Amino acid sequence: MVQVNDNFLKLKAGYLFPEIARRVNAFCEANPDAASRVIKLGIGDVTEPLPPAIVEAIHKATDELAERGSFRGYGPEQGYDFLRNAICDNDYKARGCDVSADEIFVSDGSKCDSGNILDIFGSNNTVAITDPVYPVYVDTNVMTGRTGEADDDGRYAGLVYIPVTAENDFSPALPEGKVDLIYLCYPNNPTGTVASKETLKQWVDYAKANDSIILYDAAYEAFITDPEIPHSIYEIEGARDVAIEFRSFSKNAGFTGTRCAFTVVPKSLKGTTPGGETVDIHPLWNRRHCTKFNGVSYPIQRGAAAAYSEAGKQQIGELVSFYMENARLLREGLTKVGIQVYGGVNAPYVWLKTPGGATSWDFFDTLLEKGNLVGTPGSGFGAAGEGYFRLSAFNSRANVEEAVERFTQSLG
Ligand SMILES: *Cc1c(COP(=O)(O)O)cnc(C)c1O
Repeated sequence: MVQVNDNFLKLKAGYLFPEIARRVNAFCEANPDAASRVIKLGIGDVTEPLPPAIVEAIHKATDELAERGSFRGYGPEQGYDFLRNAICDNDYKARGCDVSADEIFVSDGSKCDSGNILDIFGSNNTVAITDPVYPVYVDTNVMTGRTGEADDDGRYAGLVYIPVTAENDFSPALPEGKVDLIYLCYPNNPTGTVASKETLKQWVDYAKANDSIILYDAAYEAFITDPEIPHSIYEIEGARDVAIEFRSFSKNAGFTGTRCAFTVVPKSLKGTTPGGETVDIHPLWNRRHCTKFNGVSYPIQRGAAAAYSEAGKQQIGELVSFYMENARLLREGLTKVGIQVYGGVNAPYVWLKTPGGATSWDFFDTLLEKGNLVGTPGSGFGAAGEGYFRLSAFNSRANVEEAVERFTQSLG
């Protein structure tokens, strides 16, 4: 028989969300009257419709494809210039970042890119992740054979885990030894916390000193409200030489179902061959992207570009503010009943300390039974997430207000 990639068998296969669904279903079957009352604050998916400026651009581009004269087939794999230039001008030049349009690779998602990037790196690199963490970084390392087996806490042998908890103010300590690849995500999913310029500077300096590369996921940059917090790692001097940045239209512009994102791979980024020869990273990613990807659809790229029009910026701003008001309501409601909350100021996630020292899953059950509310147990994002719980601000206002009401009743 054909051998499988047995690295996949090491995965703690999709435990978190199926287990949440299992518990919610069991609760609804046992309590049919409460079933319709259940409010889900667990999932990191947007709820509000696409901004009108984006919808209009997608419609118009679709009409172009309906005419022989303006029809387009395959576009450039890296993305159309109209979008790469708009990204470059608005997300980078406007913030004083030294990034050029041909360093931007348009794609169908940051989830995909943050996993696919491993294609261009050797499998002997040491990989560091924060704990808790977006599970994609871990699982894609497992799939590509960069780890050993998981222990009982779900920690894989071979990965360097850097805990981020209230004890260290959610600021990951620099690794003691040398690591090669470092995943950082700011604003952070799941903790909703951010990194200051000073903190990021320490990471860039570490990466320079150790010839490491930082894989920087900035999918939530649009949710930053504090003007002192950097939106891009390239706001930090020297980052061009040590960092790849992932960005997405999913959370700011509501593209989770539409699909468009981009990755920045600076031309000054270098790696090495096993023999010690220095190699440019940019052409490797270009080769990978062009061989395994055929571009984002033209109407969707037009829609993404409309995110940078005056109307688009205004509408996205309103969308982001809407979710951040949800986050504020959640934060304040929880604080009022004496729960310690983190995040939710520069990110659409509220990370809370479970009251009374409950485990993440015990708190999940309590919240479901007493308030008919569903959130995400922190332990599902990593061992150091035990005793924490994530609530998402992606929801309707009515649901958030009702949820706050129920926190007050069931936990107060
Ligand atoms: C939602 C999210 C993304 C975006 O993924 P897409 O594939 O672009 O939808 C990236 N990183 C993190 C941490 C996320 O939560």
